[in-house]
Amino acid sequence: MKILVLNSGSSSIKYALFEMSNQHVEISGIIEAIGSPESLHSYQLNVDYTNKKQVNQHEVSSHKHGLQEIFKTLTQLKLITQVVDLLCIGHRVVHGGEKFSQPTIITNEVLEEIKLVTPLAPLHNPANLLGIEEARAYAPNTPQVAVFDTAFHQTLPDYAFQYAVPEKWYSQLAVRRYGFHGTSHFYVAKQVAKSLEKPLESLNIISLHLGNGASMAAIKQGLSIDTSMGMSPLEGLIMGTRSGDLDPAIIFYLQDKLELSCAEIKNSLNKESGLKGICHENDMRAVHQLAESGDKQAQLALAMVSYRIKKYIGAYFAVLGEVDAIVFTGGIGENDSVLREMCCADLKLFGIAVDSDKNRQVSTDIRHIEQEGMPVKILVIATNEELEIALQAKACIA
Ligand code: ADP
Repeated sequence: MKILVLNSGSSSIKYALFEMSNQHVEISGIIEAIGSPESLHSYQLNVDYTNKKQVNQHEVSSHKHGLQEIFKTLTQLKLITQVVDLLCIGHRVVHGGEKFSQPTIITNEVLEEIKLVTPLAPLHNPANLLGIEEARAYAPNTPQVAVFDTAFHQTLPDYAFQYAVPEKWYSQLAVRRYGFHGTSHFYVAKQVAKSLEKPLESLNIISLHLGNGASMAAIKQGLSIDTSMGMSPLEGLIMGTRSGDLDPAIIFYLQDKLELSCAEIKNSLNKESGLKGICHENDMRAVHQLAESGDKQAQLALAMVSYRIKKYIGAYFAVLGEVDAIVFTGGIGENDSVLREMCCADLKLFGIAVDSDKNRQVSTDIRHIEQEGMPVKILVIATNEELEIALQAKACIA
């Protein structure tokens, strides 16, 4: 039985088709720059054992057109003969507010509920909704399931998710920590449990999802009890272009001194800050190249990013009491051995120490990189949010 996973963003749709009997990825693709003449549809077949990439370049004018293109591709390649071949379609939805703590079959009522929380994620949810609406119109008899980035963090206790602001901001306006990347944190936590051959419910894990967007989660006996992103993905770690934590008074100071509008400051904190703000590069590989060539700002960026992560490791260690494992995932977490070593340096007192040789080995398999005999296991695990969405969607309709 096959499940199609759709991740509909503001200008792109990513998709993957899984044969669920063996979790094989039959096709994985992306349509980028929707609505522009540069629209690009690229896909990879049989992701597990070949690397063949096919590319179609012609204008994809809208999400509707994009979805038609995806279904046309699936049928032309004979991956499905009709939409009825699909067990269901799983949709990534960024924000589920407090309403959704589980994957949910999409009905008209559910769609309305998702619309109600959209003001909390104005950059993400509208595009997710467009994808859902088009998929429902295209495949009206195929069950559609929403899988929320926020759902895994709905187990945070109130003292961790509340901000110390006037109470009515929470009760009337839903201002609180929600956290994101939940699908990825949950997926890698399950992989840690598999690798350690222990039930997830018995493990305390610090999970680091380090990509362009980055967040950490403190996972106690399998449940998320704290996470670094907040009401929006802006809080927490230093990211590609986002600042992460900062003193809110900076915003008022900038408003006064530079007469910047709220929208301008929001744009700077989301798109001009983080690595890019510090050293003009938002891609971690470019930051390393600059740092190696002696660029002081790039060196500072690496020091700041790893220092922030280390502070969160310390905080989450205190919150969890005991830690069985630390797991690195995301483009940076999976590939950047230098940063992994910097984040974990001088933490031997916590039982955390990286083995430099193991850390430098390149592999896509699950790897242990802790020094022999250290109590805290350190793992590097490739995330697979699409597979996790497919698994959750399958469980949901079962
Ligand atoms: P997104 O949040 O967009 O999904 P990814 O998880 O793909 O992001 O991560 C992208 C980041 O991973 C970029 O900063 C990129 O430079 C970084 N990255 C990818 N490969 C490496 C590598 N070999 N070394 C260091 N950083 C890497």
